[in-house]
Amino acid sequence: MRKKGLTLNQEFILELKKISNNVKLKEEMKLHTTFRIGGPADYFVEPESKEEVRELLLLCRREKMPYYILGNGSNLLVGDKGFRGLIIQIGKNLSQVTFSENRVVTAETGVMLSKLAIQIAEKGYTGFEFAGGIPGTLGGAVTMNAGAYGGEIKDCIVSAEVIDEEGNIFVLSKEELNLGYRTSIIQQKSYIVLAASFQFEQSEKKAVLDTIADLNQRRREKQPLNYPSAGSTFKRPEGYFAGKLIMDAGLRGYRIGGIMVSEKHCGFVVNVDNGTAKEVLMLIEEVQRRVFEQFGVHLEPEVRMIGEF
Ligand SMILES: Cc1cc2nc3c(=O)[nH]c(=O)nc-3n(C[C@H](O)[C@H](O)[C@H](O)COP(=O)(O)OP(=O)(O)OC[C@H]3O[C@@H](n4cnc5c(N)ncnc54)[C@H](O)[C@@H]3O)c2cc1C
Repeated sequence: MRKKGLTLNQEFILELKKISNNVKLKEEMKLHTTFRIGGPADYFVEPESKEEVRELLLLCRREKMPYYILGNGSNLLVGDKGFRGLIIQIGKNLSQVTFSENRVVTAETGVMLSKLAIQIAEKGYTGFEFAGGIPGTLGGAVTMNAGAYGGEIKDCIVSAEVIDEEGNIFVLSKEELNLGYRTSIIQQKSYIVLAASFQFEQSEKKAVLDTIADLNQRRREKQPLNYPSAGSTFKRPEGYFAGKLIMDAGLRGYRIGGIMVSEKHCGFVVNVDNGTAKEVLMLIEEVQRRVFEQFGVHLEPEVRMIGEF
């Protein structure tokens, strides 16, 4: 057994290199999160095929090595001391999109939502416009049941191809995915999404593209996109808006170190000056404490957290 965080496991590295040509060591996670925060991951791989994903998974199981699936890192806070284990980033290597009969679209998990939304719009299909401005991969979006402006993944997905912890690959129907507000069976069972299929209605290409442009404009007006963040920091509490509660608690612009409650949209915690994961945690706790004290509402973080803080 190696000493945690000090030296890397050379045998494990050799095994990784047998599976993938894209192995990195001590990779700074701040390079892979939209928060621009996060220390080094011991091992980091970008698989090029589903089979590679499967082999990596089986290797980690065999070696009892912790692993974590990363998409675009847009809903993720990684600790300042990094992650002890393997990060498997599923991105552009697995991003093929296929169009078939009856307006069915099947996409691999690493495709960016913005690109997928435009490809779907080019066909004149309607139903995915809501996703055009969400800065993540399809895999992250299915896992989180991402949504915006009244739409969510749940509304248009037909099925998803997944892999379980034992390496079995199978397809889950929309019902089996158990999609709820920012949750799914993927999170509950630690599955990995490999691909997903959707079905849309036919519309006019220009109308669909215009809607995407309009929603993106609304985002630019409302959201602090000029600062690194992980989007809405808290889930929407039943019957309230997190941003309004935080604003009403007098926390607009509240700052700890380089981390701040956005002045533009209080639902966003932004990294204004080389902030740390520890500062994000401290700020989240303070916001939770003050909002609970004043309104009796518990704010639950939407952003996922991994690693050593
Ligand atoms: C400026 C900004 C605006 C945002 N606006 C929205 C919004 O309007 N609506 C919204 O819902 N979200 C929003 N988000 C949050 C984020 O973009 C979404 O949650 C997105 O779907 C996450 O995708 P990702 O690829 O970045 O996932 P990551 O952040 O990389 O991962 C998120 C979670 O999904 C898991 N995961 C990722 N890929 C897979 C896979 N293939 N299989 C299994 N698990 C996987 C990860 O392990 C992790 O638990 C916003 C974020 C930012 C920075």
